[in-house]
Amino acid sequence: MRLMRFDILTLFPALCEGVLSESIIGRAQTAGIISVKCHNIRDFSTDKHRKTDDTPYGGGVGMVMTCQPIYDCYKSVISSIPEGERTRVIYMSPKGRIFSHEVARELAEYDNLIFLCGHYEGVDQRVLDEIVDEEISIGDYVVTGGEIPACIVIDAVARLKEGVLASSECYEGESVASGILEYPQYTKPREFMGREVPEVLLSGDHKKIERWRLEEAVRITKERRPDMLLSHPEIEESLKPKEKKRRKRSAENQ
Ligand code: SAM
Repeated sequence: MRLMRFDILTLFPALCEGVLSESIIGRAQTAGIISVKCHNIRDFSTDKHRKTDDTPYGGGVGMVMTCQPIYDCYKSVISSIPEGERTRVIYMSPKGRIFSHEVARELAEYDNLIFLCGHYEGVDQRVLDEIVDEEISIGDYVVTGGEIPACIVIDAVARLKEGVLASSECYEGESVASGILEYPQYTKPREFMGREVPEVLLSGDHKKIERWRLEEAVRITKERRPDMLLSHPEIEESLKPKEKKRRKRSAENQ
């Protein structure tokens, strides 16, 4: 299995290091399945005060991150990646392609992902044009920096890599990945504040449990994300009795 490498170019490395060194993603690094390195853009500034931003040309509020430290930071990272490896440079940006499970699957095919995190008013366009392959957004809202967005993308991509979760079953049946939202989960105790675990889950009848879970998943998806069911009509169809389905097909063929 090939190690997948994530490099984050940021002014606030501690923001990402903290998040990504814990729990499953932290363990995946210890196990050598993925590597996450944070690079402080400020360390590459040639300015005598280690400046990394300046006022925008044309006027306006806020500061813009300058080209030089970002470019030198990128050059240092890219020069350490062996030639021929699949590498993608991503700028986390509210102007980018909206992140989704499909995008995560696409990105999981790369050997190296390099994330540039903006801050303040953003980044000088010229360095983006020079080094970035794609801009990705985590949604239609603006946060203060690209660090949390980059951590979200890295977490979602890393858990698709073999060995990070116990098995691929862990994510294949999950909300969104399966095409619909997941059924409700229950664990011990059997009763909490007068609320009982659904009887069927205690029955030991795996067929019945599987059907109940599918029915619940369809019910929740219908309520909250009917658009998902429209894209996957076969899921609801699979709940209908076989005879009904056969009759419907023959009526359609007549
Ligand atoms: N002035 C920029 C604009 O209107 O497009 C927003 C800058 S924002 C305050 C600072 C940084 O946060 C951005 O450079 C970007 O890296 C990150 N960011 C903000 N919202 C984001 C989002 N929805 N998805 C990904 N990154 C985001």
